[in-house]
Amino acid sequence: MSLPADLHMHTPLCRHATGEPVDYARQAVALGLTEIGFSDHSPMPQEDFDNWRMFDRQLDEYVAKVWLAQKTFPQLAIRLALEVDYLPGHEDWIRALAARHPWDYFIGSVHYIGDAWDIDNPAKMSEWKKRNPFEVWQSYFERLTLAADSKLFEIIGHADLPKKFNIRPQQDCTPLYEKFLTAAARAGCAIELNTAGLRKECREIYPSRPLLQIAFQKNVPITFGSDAHTPAEVGMNFADAVSLARGVGYTESCRFKQRQRELVKF
Ligand code: ZN
Ligand code: FE
Ligand code: FE
Ligand code: ZN
Repeated sequence: MSLPADLHMHTPLCRHATGEPVDYARQAVALGLTEIGFSDHSPMPQEDFDNWRMFDRQLDEYVAKVWLAQKTFPQLAIRLALEVDYLPGHEDWIRALAARHPWDYFIGSVHYIGDAWDIDNPAKMSEWKKRNPFEVWQSYFERLTLAADSKLFEIIGHADLPKKFNIRPQQDCTPLYEKFLTAAARAGCAIELNTAGLRKECREIYPSRPLLQIAFQKNVPITFGSDAHTPAEVGMNFADAVSLARGVGYTESCRFKQRQRELVKF
């Protein structure tokens, strides 16, 4: 049984990852993966929006780096994608980005709640201290629901990112998951099993098993992603992710080519 595709990895253009796409691809081949996809942090309309993404003027360079990896490792399917931040009001910008290159898929991620707080940024822990964790989770899932509803994305990234620092609400979050996953099912978008959570304080794959169980009940398809920011992280903990997915009943995951979905057994 071959490992599923690793559809979430970064490049140095985002300013907080190391290793060129060819290095990630080499590692994937060494692990016996047959398919990967690059999904680096997309540019924003304002160049100084934050300091953890490529600049707009680097988009062609990004695509060229992925093409070089494709040329160097013809035995590996290498997809071209972006991890795009969803912010309400950015829809036209995201549509314009989509038209600029022959992308295979977009991962829609919510890192920002409100306009200026990226909740997973370790430099902004002070923001967490100002708020009740449940309020953060509510705002996050409201925005994630809008992201799914927007139909701009094939995949929704790390669906319970607010657990990253292991700050968890006392309240039951099931209704938040339900609403988001109803939107995902309606829009036909997948969620990813992102193993980066295992490397953070929460020590858990994104999303949690309870969220994934609801996703399965609602027929929301899945993908797998390491969210590698260095070549050694490619395919990391995929055995754990596969067993989590199987445990809730999944037997298939998605691959994407030119924004068309195909289901593959894993
Ligand atoms: Zn990143
Ligand atoms: Fe992300
Ligand atoms: Fe990522
Ligand atoms: Zn990410």
